[in-house]
Amino acid sequence: MDAPPLGGKQNIYDYIAERRCGVERYRVKPGVQVKLAEWDPSDYSEFDEGKKKGKAKLDELTDQLEELQELLYAEGKHKLLVVLQGTDTAGKDGVIRHVFDGVNPQGVKVASFKVPTPQELSRDYLWRIHQHTPARGEIVIFNRSHYEDVLVVRVHELVPQEVWSRRYEHINAFEKMLADEGVTILKFFLHIDMDEQKERLQARLDDPTKHWKFSTGDLAERKRWDECVAAYEEMLSRTSTDYAPWYVVPSNRKWYRNLVISTTIIQALEDLEMDFPPAEEGLDEVVIE
Ligand code: ADP
Repeated sequence: MDAPPLGGKQNIYDYIAERRCGVERYRVKPGVQVKLAEWDPSDYSEFDEGKKKGKAKLDELTDQLEELQELLYAEGKHKLLVVLQGTDTAGKDGVIRHVFDGVNPQGVKVASFKVPTPQELSRDYLWRIHQHTPARGEIVIFNRSHYEDVLVVRVHELVPQEVWSRRYEHINAFEKMLADEGVTILKFFLHIDMDEQKERLQARLDDPTKHWKFSTGDLAERKRWDECVAAYEEMLSRTSTDYAPWYVVPSNRKWYRNLVISTTIIQALEDLEMDFPPAEEGLDEVVIE
């Protein structure tokens, strides 16, 4: 799994090829019991050249992602679903902003899942989710997702245990159906620790332009940290599958988090071996007057 150190002159294709094994270390193997204490949220072992070079590398990766997304859109065959989960301040919004920076907005949609409306609550919990799954040629990013129904719903006891505990099975079956219908699914759990969250919450308090992001509700959530960890661990252990894997992304360092996610998405898109659709016949004889 040891990759050679990165030289500044190394091109992006070599980088992806080398990291192919590297980021795999963050994938949760199906059936493994995840203990988050064993996953270092400050890890940056797949890119040891620091923040500045890491950010420069991300710029190259976003160019690459832009090209692959255009191919996905042009070919119109495949669908990609990216699921983002993580505690408050873990960086879901930051990933969307930085990893997808420069990607054509026509081919990428973001679906953010908030507290369900009465209309949504009166249906099954996957109803509102299914409507946002990607069409051919599309990338859809879920900012929170159906996993809230085994996370916040569990921690806040919004439904009885017998109800939420059945949902892991439903979710696996739902995702299997999506995968069978041609959706590539990548799920990222943004892993930060309590100290890092404290700093990020404090930064929001200290900066008036970030006050809008601060909710005292986040502090109540923080008090339930251990219960949240238990819910995350069960989610990761029971719903990481070959067809819809979870990645536990070390996210204390934002730049590293972005690199890991970008690399993982690019390699999944490359694995689709896409091609531009064939051109109309006779194009070489066309003269534009
Ligand atoms: P975000 O924190 O994602 O930027 P908000 O501050 O509006 O956005 O938070 C959305 C809230 O909606 C979160 O507290 C989340 O737990 C909650 N939520 C999402 N899905 C559900 C659900 N199915 N049931 C209950 N609450 C949910």
